[in-house]
This record gives sequence, structure tokens and C-alpha cells, in this order.
Amino acid sequence: MRECDVLVIGCGPAGLSAAQYAARAGYRVLAADALAPGGQLLYIDEIENYPGTEKMSGYALAEALEKQAVSFGVEIGFMEIASIEKDGDAFIAHSADEDIAAKAIIYAAGARHRHLGCQGEEEYQGKGVSYCATCDGPFFRGKDVVVVGGGDTALTDALYLSKICSSVTLVHRRMEFRGQKVLSDRVRARENIRLELGRNVVSVNGNGRNVTSVTLDDGRMIEASALFVFVGIIPNTEAIDGLVELSGGFVVTDGSMRTSVPGIFAAGDVRTTPFRQVVTAAGDGALAAHAADSYIQGLNG
Ligand code: NAP
Repeated sequence: MRECDVLVIGCGPAGLSAAQYAARAGYRVLAADALAPGGQLLYIDEIENYPGTEKMSGYALAEALEKQAVSFGVEIGFMEIASIEKDGDAFIAHSADEDIAAKAIIYAAGARHRHLGCQGEEEYQGKGVSYCATCDGPFFRGKDVVVVGGGDTALTDALYLSKICSSVTLVHRRMEFRGQKVLSDRVRARENIRLELGRNVVSVNGNGRNVTSVTLDDGRMIEASALFVFVGIIPNTEAIDGLVELSGGFVVTDGSMRTSVPGIFAAGDVRTTPFRQVVTAAGDGALAAHAADSYIQGLNG
């Protein structure tokens, strides 16, 4: 069985920051992720509000975070942690290929995109229905597309798509946006973004190969080559379901990132937090590593 002091689960900005802080404090740190390090950073075209940086791509920031963590001795493990159990003072995490023993766990597994659940959504996934503007937007250069959602992701990605696509119709179920005002002001000012507020998408239609239109709940059909769905996130808590307290599906923590189980800490989008940003995820990671340090020192007497 592989052993480490701190097992970090998830290599987004929260996980990589936690790993970096814990390794820099002298601990043996394994940071596990089933995918390439970066988490949701990898889907962000441009970050303009990370303190002290010029505009940069999410990919560039992910690379910098990984490089920095590795420079302090973090080992990155490409594995999916399926479950965690308590074993005396330690924890055993199980992946398909191996078990890992750790003194403390920092759970930073992030979140995934919620689906809309409308007719045609599953059938046209990969044929025009997308959950990632930076991944799929360039396939619809010069085309008309529809975006659904009213949070920061829908606003940010509608702005991104408006630079590539001929037009963007932004459909949101309420009259007010949930996302930040600075973003909604930009959306409202963008000439080729048309708003459909107080409306829902009821179906996405196509010819079997591609999306051709989207139907709204007032019966109108909007011709479009793609539907981008940004209706929120679902926390990735599968590995700790039943182990720690959750609220609304998110992991409950205190201000030090401690969960209901001593020795398990949570950071980033997976935890209950009023504001999900790259900087808050990174801050969570630092706090979680600090709390894990205190916890391990307590174990050592
Ligand atoms: P979000 O803030 O939860 O917003 C989800 C949006 O989808 C809401 O407007 C919601 O409508 C709508 N929605 C949910 N279910 C729906 C349904 N079944 N049908 C139609 N609409 C539905 O999610 P998010 O935008 O993905 O953001 C997730 C987190 O990441 C947030 O904390 C956000 O601040 C953060 N984030 C920040 C940035 C940035 O700062 N640049 C960028 C991206 C994400 P209602 O408003 O009516 O509930």
C-alpha cells in the first residue's frame, strides 16, 4: 500500500494550492486526479480577476500551479479515488489500482456540469449540445448558437462565444441574472447577444446528425447550430458520500476547511461556499493545508 502524510483528492486550483502548501510545510503529499491537473481551469478561456496577474488562459494558470506544486515535492497521481475509510488514526483511500494510506485527506474534487434535462439534450450531446464553450465554441465559428443559464458561467461563456459565433441567444429562466453585474452589463452591451429572459428551453432539435434549432417554452423555435448548457454545477462527492456531512450536496466545512470528520478537510467548489472563484479555491486550499498541518501535529502528540 502506498503511504503519504496528506492525500489531496482533486487537482484543480484548490487541490494544487493545498498540495503545494502541505508539501512546502514538509509533508509527503500525493495529489490524485483522474484527469489532467487543472480542474475547471482547463475550460476557462481567459482569467482576468486572479489577483496580481495579467489576463491569462486557464490552461496557463493550471500549468503554473502544477509546476509550482511539483517543485515543492508534490507527487501527482493519475487515479480516481472511489472511496475512503477510516483506519485507526489514518485513512485508507481506494482507487481501482491501489490503496493509499494517509494521515489526513484534503478533498478538493470540484464539481461537474448540471444537465438541463430537456428533450433532445442527451441525443445531441457532441452533435451541438455542449457544456464547454472553450472546448466546442470554435466548431461553431460564424454560426448562430444558443446559451442557456443565468450564472457567471453562462454570462462569461456567452461573451466568449459572441467573439467567435455570428450570434448568441442567451436564454435564462428569470428576468434577472444570478451572475455578477459586471458580466451582465457586458452581456447586455454586446451587439450580437440577444436575450430571452423569463424563458426556458424545452427541446433541442436536429436532423439526427446536428442541432438545427432550439424550442422555447412559448413555442417559438430559434434556429441554431449549437446549444451551450450552463445551468449550474453538481459537486463530486461520490468518494465521501456517507462519510462527511453534506448540505445541498456540497461538503460542509468550517472556516478552517474542517469537515465533520477530524482529519478530512474540503476545499474549493465541492464545499459549501458563497463565492466560487479561482482565488477563493486557492485560498481554501491554503487554509485546508494549514488545518491539516495542525491536525497531524496533534496526532503526533
Ligand atoms: P450557478 O451560479 O449555480 O448558476 C446556474 C444558473 O443556471 C442560474 O442562473 C440558474 O437559474 C440556472 N438554472 C439552474 N437550473 C436550471 C434549469 N433546470 N433550467 C434553466 N436554468 C437553470 O452556476 P454557474 O454559473 O455554473 O457558476 C458556478 C459557480 O462558479 C458560481 O459560484 C459562480 O460564481 C462561479 N463562476 C465564476 C466565474 C467568474 O467569476 N468569472 C465564472 C464561472 C463560474 P436561477 O438564477 O433562476 O437559479
